[in-house]
Amino acid sequence: VTSDFAIRIPALSPTIELIVDADTLRRHCTDYNGRNTGQALAIVRPGETGDVVKIVALCRQEGVAVVPQGGNTSDYGGSVPAATGRSIVLSLSRLNRILDIDLTNNTARVEAGVVLADLNRKLAEHDRWFPVSLGSEGTCQIGGNIAMNAGGNTVLRYGMMRDNLLGVEGVFGNGDHYADMQPLRKKCIGYHIGDLLVGSEGTLGVITKAILKLQHLPKALVTAWMSAASLNDALQTLDMVRQHLGERLTAFEVINQLQRRVIERYQPALKDPIAQDYEWAILAEFTDTAGQEALSASVEAALAAALEAGAISDALIAANGAQRQAFWRIRESVLDANNAMGWAVTHDASVPVSKLPAFAERVDKEVRAQFPTARFLAAGHAGDGNIHLGVFFEKADFDGLADFKRATQAINAQVFQIAHALGGHFSSEHGIGTKHRMPFLTYTPASNLALMRVLKSALDPQGIMNPGKIFDTAEAV
Ligand SMILES: Cc1cc2nc3c(=O)[nH]c(=O)nc-3n(C[C@H](O)[C@H](O)[C@H](O)COP(=O)(O)OP(=O)(O)OC[C@H]3O[C@@H](n4cnc5c(N)ncnc54)[C@H](O)[C@@H]3O)c2cc1C
Repeated sequence: VTSDFAIRIPALSPTIELIVDADTLRRHCTDYNGRNTGQALAIVRPGETGDVVKIVALCRQEGVAVVPQGGNTSDYGGSVPAATGRSIVLSLSRLNRILDIDLTNNTARVEAGVVLADLNRKLAEHDRWFPVSLGSEGTCQIGGNIAMNAGGNTVLRYGMMRDNLLGVEGVFGNGDHYADMQPLRKKCIGYHIGDLLVGSEGTLGVITKAILKLQHLPKALVTAWMSAASLNDALQTLDMVRQHLGERLTAFEVINQLQRRVIERYQPALKDPIAQDYEWAILAEFTDTAGQEALSASVEAALAAALEAGAISDALIAANGAQRQAFWRIRESVLDANNAMGWAVTHDASVPVSKLPAFAERVDKEVRAQFPTARFLAAGHAGDGNIHLGVFFEKADFDGLADFKRATQAINAQVFQIAHALGGHFSSEHGIGTKHRMPFLTYTPASNLALMRVLKSALDPQGIMNPGKIFDTAEAV
């Protein structure tokens, strides 16, 4: 890197901001869970999408790595640079304009740095919403959501980020600008090259703009909390509510008993809505753009049928917004409660929905055979097969972090193998980052990996885009 590199960046354009103070550098070089840290030459914040082309060109010339960063809410190490300090963090946060909302076309054109919740606040003024819903929505950005192919609570009905995207604009690591920004649901454009940026975790290029599919804001909403004796019963309930409500089922989450106890220990105010002991809680949500009464009646009929069939033992429907929030707060406290209350090894695997009971049973049994003090956690999106299974240890069970890390490796290997054997995949919505590079190399077919390397070397021949992530095991450029 030439000595005047940092000075040359802001000289590229008056709208580029360069930040080198130690506090800001540290914040941008540490990810959400604080476990992944790195070093950067500077934080660079473009003010116009055209700035990104110039920044990437200069970085290519200088051999400096570019780590695109959105809200920095991902937790597998993908959003922070490596320790070598030969990178810039390219923060998209100033590219945060909603460029237009076309109500008849039901689309929005946005810059990559728009925060998901800000977009939905604006869309609500027009009776619309963008139906990707994450616990991090107050901070994460559309560009980050695309780069991670984010999922969340509504995948069951609306799919992942990829399913809600009509086009992108970006700059690849080879310097090429790419735009597919026509707001069309049908278009023959040859190779959909922009699709390569979905789930690419910043390793191919920088996403600068996107065209998003919108939905009308639901007018009717019902949220229910139910108790079930087993995952099989929960899946029978899933089938029954789908029979009655079809597409109106928006979320179907489950939480096992130990996970609810850990949450209650963390925050006693987050009480289980059903007082008696039971194994699996189901949190289901139903929405409709038409009448509240009709939706409520259909949900009540479905839950009555599930009660009668013995699939659930109790059901509560949220009486108001505050109760709905209380239900969801329990679900959304999982991550923080596990981090605070003990040592937890949690996973982001998916299996076909029909295989969820076998997956949970095998993980519980096989992990405990190896670690007798382990206790089995589960909380997740059962409706789409992405249940976050985990293993919980009391803090007293380990002498220290190194000891726990060794156990984590052994548990991960077991869980990934079980998921794979059941036709599943070890990673679903939290990405690969640096944390899961090794299982990615293990479980991706060799010919798929070879094709990915062909694409990587064509679109980022110098390897400057977010080095060391996904399948790149080198430390950094
Ligand atoms: C409380 C909490 C709950 C969460 N729940 C969910 C959930 O339910 N579902 C889910 O999918 N995720 C979830 N996440 C993970 C995370 O919020 C998502 O992955 C989110 O999409 C990341 O967006 P971001 O803007 O923060 O991206 P960052 O964390 O900044 O970056 C993520 C990756 O994308 C790349 N990137 C970012 N912006 C760009 C860009 N413009 N161009 C190219 N590459 C870019 C980065 O280099 C990095 O590799 C959760 C996180 C938290 C903290």
